[in-house]
Formats: sequence, structure tokens, C-alpha cells
Amino acid sequence: MESRTMPAATWTSTSQSLPKRDLWQAMARGLRCRCPSCGEGKIFRAFLKVADNCPACGENLSHHRADDLPAYLVIVIVGHIIVPIALWIETNYAPSMLLQLAFYLPFTLVSSLLLLQPVKGAVVGLQWAFRMHGFDESRPADVEEGTIAKLNVVK
Ligand SMILES: [Zn+2]
Repeated sequence: MESRTMPAATWTSTSQSLPKRDLWQAMARGLRCRCPSCGEGKIFRAFLKVADNCPACGENLSHHRADDLPAYLVIVIVGHIIVPIALWIETNYAPSMLLQLAFYLPFTLVSSLLLLQPVKGAVVGLQWAFRMHGFDESRPADVEEGTIAKLNVVK
């Protein structure tokens, strides 16, 4: 008897039907530095360290892969605020360079530090809502993202 192997199935997050999560609610909760699942527990255990689990509902938050995205987003946001202000002030008033730097540098630093945590929370909320990375509980435990799982093997 001849054994035959069916083509390996590629596991994707859309291959399972799970209840849809509210993206905007999850991101808004993350923006408030709260758990994207319950909105109660604090998402951070330190300034930018995401807690492994939500202290209120126990949701596993260690699956996030925010990486550098929050920093890039903060650069985009702060840049879109600072640059038009700097251009407008320079065009209309042309104050001394020292005076401009005395305003722009601290404003950039403080606003970046203030935005970093909520933006990272929103990114974690986005990943949770889209069930990215390990947030998808339907993913087989032995399947890494981007790999092909041999789910259908017929002998
Ligand atoms: Zn929670």
C-alpha cells in the first residue's frame, strides 16, 4: 500500500472563526494605558514595559510585538506638530535661533516622552484586536508565525 501525504496546510489567523474584537475600543483602552481586553487593569508594569498579564482580567499581554512602531509613530506625530509651528514662527516672527531652540528642544523632548507610553498602549491594543502574534488563541501551540503547519497528513 502506498502512503500519500496531502499538501501541508498553511495556518493563518483567518483559518479559524473567532469573535471579532473591537479595534477602536482596544486602541482607545491602550491609549489610556489600560488592558485592551477589559479596560481596567494597567497595561504597563514600568514606563515602557508591558505587563505579562492584565492585573484585572488576567489577559496574557506578553504576546505583543510593538518593537519600534510606537517610537516611529511618536516621531511622526510630534514632527507634524513641531515642524508647522517652527515654520509659521520663523516665517512670521523670525526670532533668534537660540530662542527657537529653547522652545523646540524641550517641547519635542517632553511631548515625545508623554506620547510614547499611550502610543505603545494603542499599538498593543491594535495587535490584540487583530489577534496578531500570540494573541490568537486558536493558533496551534507548535506553530510559529510565518511557518507552514503540517495539519493534514493522510496515510
Ligand atoms: Zn484586562
